[in-house]
Amino acid sequence: MQYTDLPLYTIKPSKRARRLALRLDPLERIFHLTVPLRCPLERAYEFADTHEEWMKKALSELPVPQPFIHGAVLPVLGQNITLDISHNPSVKITSIKEEGEMLYITSNLKDPGIRIERFLKKKAKEILHVKSKEKSLTINKKIENVNVRDTKSRWGSCSSDKNLSYSWRLIFAPPHALDYVVAHEVAHLKHLDHSAKFWALCRSLSDNFVEGQFWMQNHGHELMRYGAAKRSTPRQE
Ligand SMILES: [Zn+2]
Repeated sequence: MQYTDLPLYTIKPSKRARRLALRLDPLERIFHLTVPLRCPLERAYEFADTHEEWMKKALSELPVPQPFIHGAVLPVLGQNITLDISHNPSVKITSIKEEGEMLYITSNLKDPGIRIERFLKKKAKEILHVKSKEKSLTINKKIENVNVRDTKSRWGSCSSDKNLSYSWRLIFAPPHALDYVVAHEVAHLKHLDHSAKFWALCRSLSDNFVEGQFWMQNHGHELMRYGAAKRSTPRQE
């Protein structure tokens, strides 16, 4: 890794690459510089130097990270919720109270981000469970379990033994996008593939299939900006 006044980048030596190439990992907010094996490192550094402006511009166009800090506004289930955090060393545990469009957090922790995340995960699990159940009942399918994870590789999944799991970050998606992901996984209870029959069912189970799917495909990566940065954009299976 290079620590200069340039944006952060890693050097990736490559047997197959024919030329130097810079690629931005939008979630880690870091560049990867592919360097052909025979290319001298000095040339690679020079290459990065000459692309300084391009790198800064690319970074500035990324969705801005939104940590869980006092005053942060989070889109929770389609409603903007403002975090109101008070630090109080004398309280024993962190308390979190939802009131209208406010989330009041009182904590002895300097950074209660992890507690807020836990609270939101629980909320995500509840809504995803209720919605999955509702949709599965309409097609007479049973669900064993609904879990939420901080998945790095997928927004949702459905196993052959009828366990559904979702990324808790769907709580930050517009309701029709979350609904589409649930419809998608529930449709897999019947079709464990992406056949035409599967898509027809997924569509019929969705509130707004077209916009929901469109949002996930085009904006899904923005969900990763809340809380801590993550490694890669999940896909859906
Ligand atoms: Zn799928």
